Amino acid sequence: MSDKKKRILTGDRPTGNLHLGHYVGSLANRVKLQKEYDSFIIIADVQALTTHWEKEENLTENIYTIALDYLAAGVDPEISTIFIQSMIPELCELTMYFSLFTSVNVLRHNPTIKSEASQHGFKDMTYGFLGYPVSQTADIAIFKAHLVPVGEDQIPHLELARKIVRRFNDLYKPVLIEPDTLVGDVPRLVGLDGKAKMSKSLNNAIFLTDNPEILKSKIRSAVTDPARIRKNDPGHPEVCTISQYQKVFNAAEIDEIHANCRQGSIGCTDCKNNLFNRINILLEPMRERRNKYANNMPLVTEILYEGTKKARAVAQDTMHEVREAMQINYFNQ
Ligand code: SF4
Repeated sequence: MSDKKKRILTGDRPTGNLHLGHYVGSLANRVKLQKEYDSFIIIADVQALTTHWEKEENLTENIYTIALDYLAAGVDPEISTIFIQSMIPELCELTMYFSLFTSVNVLRHNPTIKSEASQHGFKDMTYGFLGYPVSQTADIAIFKAHLVPVGEDQIPHLELARKIVRRFNDLYKPVLIEPDTLVGDVPRLVGLDGKAKMSKSLNNAIFLTDNPEILKSKIRSAVTDPARIRKNDPGHPEVCTISQYQKVFNAAEIDEIHANCRQGSIGCTDCKNNLFNRINILLEPMRERRNKYANNMPLVTEILYEGTKKARAVAQDTMHEVREAMQINYFNQ
C-alpha cells in the first residue's frame, strides 16, 4: 500500500452469492480502481444482521462465499484490504459517538431506509435497522476513506455520512475526512424475467458461480421481444432483456445486433448464443480463480484475517484521534 494513494471504501452485506448485477454495478469497478486507490473492502456482517438478525447461522458461510466472489472477480488481496466488520469493535464505538448527534427524524425520512423497511415488511423498525446509515458512516469515517463508490439508492446514505462527518469535525476537531461519492454510470441490470432488477430473492439472476451449462440455460430462458414469433419477424430490441445485456456485455456489436434484430435478419436463438459466449468469456477466468482459492481455503482465511488485522490497526489509530478530539482520554493513554 502506498500512503500517497487516496483511499476508497466499498463492500457488501454477506447474504449469498454475488451475481452479474453486482459485478457490473460495483465489483468490476472495484477491480479497476484497486490499482489507483488504496482499496478497503468491508464484509458488512453486522449490517447483514440488521435485516436478518435471526439468521446468524448462515453468516460464516456467507462471509466465505462473498470473499470467494471477490477473489474470483479479480480483487487482488496483495493490494486490496478485505476485512470483516464485526471483528473491528472500534466501529461500534464510533457508531455510538455519531449517534449522539444524529437525529432520529433524519433517519426516519431517509428514502432508502423507508423503501427498505417496506421491502422487508418492517412496521416497527428496530433501533439497529434505523441506525444502519450511522454505522455505515462509521465504516467510512474510521478508515478515512476519500471516496465511496455507490449505486443510486445509496446516495442518501452518503449525503448523510458527509453531514455526520462534517458535524463531528465542527463539534470537536477536524480529524475525519468528508468522503466524496463516486456514482457508477452503468445502468442497473434487469433480471432474466425482464421485469425487475437482477436479484437472488427474485430468482432472476445469473451468478458469478454459474457454470457454462447453467449460464446457457438461464440465457435461453430470458424474456425477449414477445412480438417476435418467427425468426424473420422484425424485432424491438428496446423491449428485450437480451438486448439490455448485449448493451452491457457486448457493446462493440450492439448497433449491428439492433439493426439485424429490427430487420429480422438475426434469430433470438443466435442472439442468445452470441450473448452466452460473451458472458462465458467474462466468467471463465473467474471460475479459474475461484477454483484456485476454493481449493485452498486456509489461504482465504488468512486473507480475511490479515485484511481485518490491517483494517483494525487503521481503525484504532483513527479512534485515538477521535477520543482525543472529544476529550475522552481520562488516563492519558
Ligand atoms: S434478436 Fe436479440 S435483441 Fe432482438 S428480440 Fe431477439 S434476443 Fe432480443
